[in-house]
Amino acid sequence: MGLFKSFFIGLSNSTALNELARKFGPSLGANKVVAGETIESVIETIKELNQKNISVSVDSLGEFVNTKAGTIESKNKIIEVIHAIHEHNVDAHISLKISQLGSEFDKELAYENLREILLEAHKCGNIHINIDTEKFASLHHILETLDRLRGEFKNVGTVIQTYLYDAEAIADKYPDLRLRIVKGAYKELPSIAYQTKEEIDQNYIRIIEKRLLTATNLTSIATHDHDIINHVKQFAKDNNVNKDHFEFQMLYGFRSELAESIAREGYNFTIYVPYGDDWFAYFMRRLAERPQNINLAFKEFVTPKTLTVVGSAVAGAVAVGGLIAGVASLFGKNKKKDNKDEQLHKYEGYNKSNQAHEQVNGELFVTPDFDNNQKSS
Ligand SMILES: Cc1cc2nc3c(=O)[nH]c(=O)nc-3n(C[C@H](O)[C@H](O)[C@H](O)COP(=O)(O)OP(=O)(O)OC[C@H]3O[C@@H](n4cnc5c(N)ncnc54)[C@H](O)[C@@H]3O)c2cc1C
Repeated sequence: MGLFKSFFIGLSNSTALNELARKFGPSLGANKVVAGETIESVIETIKELNQKNISVSVDSLGEFVNTKAGTIESKNKIIEVIHAIHEHNVDAHISLKISQLGSEFDKELAYENLREILLEAHKCGNIHINIDTEKFASLHHILETLDRLRGEFKNVGTVIQTYLYDAEAIADKYPDLRLRIVKGAYKELPSIAYQTKEEIDQNYIRIIEKRLLTATNLTSIATHDHDIINHVKQFAKDNNVNKDHFEFQMLYGFRSELAESIAREGYNFTIYVPYGDDWFAYFMRRLAERPQNINLAFKEFVTPKTLTVVGSAVAGAVAVGGLIAGVASLFGKNKKKDNKDEQLHKYEGYNKSNQAHEQVNGELFVTPDFDNNQKSS
């Protein structure tokens, strides 16, 4: 499991692969978890979900933005979604990453971009803006930015990653903000984060229960874990927590039937809907957190019947092979288009500066350099 996670998080961090994937459009199964590449397609998806009493958080996909022009483009795309939500009068809000607004190279630029988005969202009916949390190295800056903006705006909130030892203390700072509580999607060091499912789940439940009893704003319980969902429902009933104090959230393309049945029971429900051409890192993180998600990619290589027959362990191993082949061919296709030497140089250069390598059974596994991550906030 650790190896799977490291492998896919490593892929998600690869600038070269992200750039290549952008050119080919959602493939390897990503089209099942990304709602198209245009505003029209995302508005269509929102309308379909709204009809089922499900709200939407739209993520205009993008990270690894490293030029000022790129951040302006990201900001404009987000503002375009805000206008579309307003014009179509649909039930939706925005999730964004400050790394797509420039936080990795110019924090003030990221702040200004985000402030402009918040102003526009405020004008368009106070649409909520959620700042997604990313790798730990960026957390301090996210919270600093949030603290600068929360006095001026009421339509801003963020995400608590309960794998962090500090998660409860951070959540306690913001009882009056709308917060999404997640387990955490990145690979973090044992010095800052719990590593086992049991510990992460316990912290998750502890923080949710405390929020439900004390917070004055909405708590979004973002998980596909039915045990946790059932626990929260029971806890809310036992403690007379009003259903308007919380909602459940899931990602588009995962456990849709469960999501719809929870919404039919009368619980508030939001689906996180990513759209756009920057799908690769998002999709790799989904594979990292749950190897079974690889079925989405695997379905393009073998039939569901084969999956059942060979069993999940073997299927998982074969699927990784398939995915590696898929990624390799994705990379290969582009090499034909672009200058081969330049591409290879870029890829190797990235690996040398940012990644640690592990040679496992002849395959090259790429793992993030976490020390580097933590220093680079
Ligand atoms: C709406 C939303 C927003 C998010 N935003 C962020 C963010 O800003 N920052 C961040 O770091 N992370 C974010 N995440 C990701 C999150 O941190 C987790 O990595 C991710 O949700 C996996 O954890 P989980 O609780 O859903 O389930 P897991 O811990 O992966 O699974 C627990 C159990 O749930 C069941 N299960 C889970 N998925 C499925 C499935 N597809 N089908 C069948 N059973 C299943 C299985 O029994 C499994 O054992 C977000 C997640 C969601 C849903």
